[in-house]
Amino acid sequence: MSEIIFKDAKITRPEDNQVEQIKKIFPHISPVEKGDIVAVKIHPGEYGNTTHVRPVVVRTVVDLVIEAGGIPFVTDTTTLYRGMKLNAADLIKGAAMNGFTHASMNAPFIVADGLRGGQGREIQIDGEALSSITVASAVAEADSMIVISHSKGHPASGYGGAVKHLGMGCLDRAGKIRVHEVGKPSIDPEKCVQCGECVEVCPWGAITPPEIDHSKCCGELSCADACQQEAIIPPSDATDKMQNRLGEAALGPIKALRGRIGYINWVYDLTPGCDCFNFSGERFVEDIGILGGRDPVALDSATLDKINGQMKVRGSSIYNLWGVNPLIHIEAAEKIGCGNREYEITG
Ligand code: SF4
Ligand code: SF4
Repeated sequence: MSEIIFKDAKITRPEDNQVEQIKKIFPHISPVEKGDIVAVKIHPGEYGNTTHVRPVVVRTVVDLVIEAGGIPFVTDTTTLYRGMKLNAADLIKGAAMNGFTHASMNAPFIVADGLRGGQGREIQIDGEALSSITVASAVAEADSMIVISHSKGHPASGYGGAVKHLGMGCLDRAGKIRVHEVGKPSIDPEKCVQCGECVEVCPWGAITPPEIDHSKCCGELSCADACQQEAIIPPSDATDKMQNRLGEAALGPIKALRGRIGYINWVYDLTPGCDCFNFSGERFVEDIGILGGRDPVALDSATLDKINGQMKVRGSSIYNLWGVNPLIHIEAAEKIGCGNREYEITG
C-alpha cells in the first residue's frame, strides 16, 4: 500500500494556495539528497496549448529542491511528431513562449535527449514486450528526479499522468519509437483522394500516398489525425500494444535513477487531449487538486479514481473520452514492477 498525499482544489484561504500545497506535499515525496543534481521533469505544452502545468508550480518545486541542497534543472524531451518539440532548439523556444524560462523557474531548462533526440542510455527492463528501453541521457544521469505531470485525457492511452510521463516523456527518440512502432499504419487506397495532407504532417518522409514506407515510419500517427478521409488505418490492436509498451517502458527511468523519483500530479484543467495538442479543449470535469507520492502506479490509480468519481456523477468515466481504457498501461507498469495500484490517501 503506497502513501498518496492529496490537496483539494476547493480552497477559500490564501494559505491553501497551490504554492503552499506543494510545500506541504514535497517533504513526503522528495528523493533529494544534499549535492544531488536533480531533474525536474515537465511537459511545457505545445505552443497554442494553454492548459499545461503553470511555471509557478515548477518554480515552487525548484525552490524546494534548492532548499533541500539539490542542484535543479528543468527538463523535457523531443517528440516524434512535427511541432515545437521536434528538436531541442524549437523545444527551448516553445517552452519560453509558454512562460518556462530560467527567470520564471529559477533553474535552467535543458533538453534531456539532445539536439535531435539521439542522446539516451539503454536500460534493461526484461518486460514481455520490451527487453530494454532507451532513457533520455540527462534523466538517466541525474541523481534524483521530481516528475510534475498534468493529469488529462489522451487519445492513445485514455489518460496521461505519472506513468505516461515516465514511459514516454523520459525516453529519447529511439525509446519513443520502440513504444510507438506497433502503430505503423497503412492507407486504404479506395478512401485516399491523394490530397497530400498526410505528407505535410509526417516528419519522417514516410508517405507517398497511397503507400507508407514502414522502414521510415515510427507509428506516431499524426498522419491519421490529419486525414479527413479516414483513409489511414493503424493495426487494430495498436492501442493496447502501445499501452503495454508504455507501461513497461516506465521502468526504464525508475531503474536508471534507482527509484529516487518523487511524483506530483497536477490535476487541473482536465482536457480530453494531451498537452502535445496545439490547442486546449473544453474541460471534462472540474479541477480536482494536487496529488503526490513516491509510487507512480499508486499515484495514477488515485488520480484516476478521483477523476472517475467526478465523471460517475454524470454517468460517465474516463473510458468514454476516447474509448480507450487507461488501466492497460497502469497495469502493465504494475506488472513489470514500477509500483502498486493499492494506495492510501493522507494529508
Ligand atoms: S491525407 Fe488521407 S486522403 Fe490525403 S493523401 Fe493522405 S491518406 Fe490520402
Ligand atoms: S507515416 Fe504517419 S505514423 Fe508514420 S511517421 Fe509518418 S506521420 Fe507518423
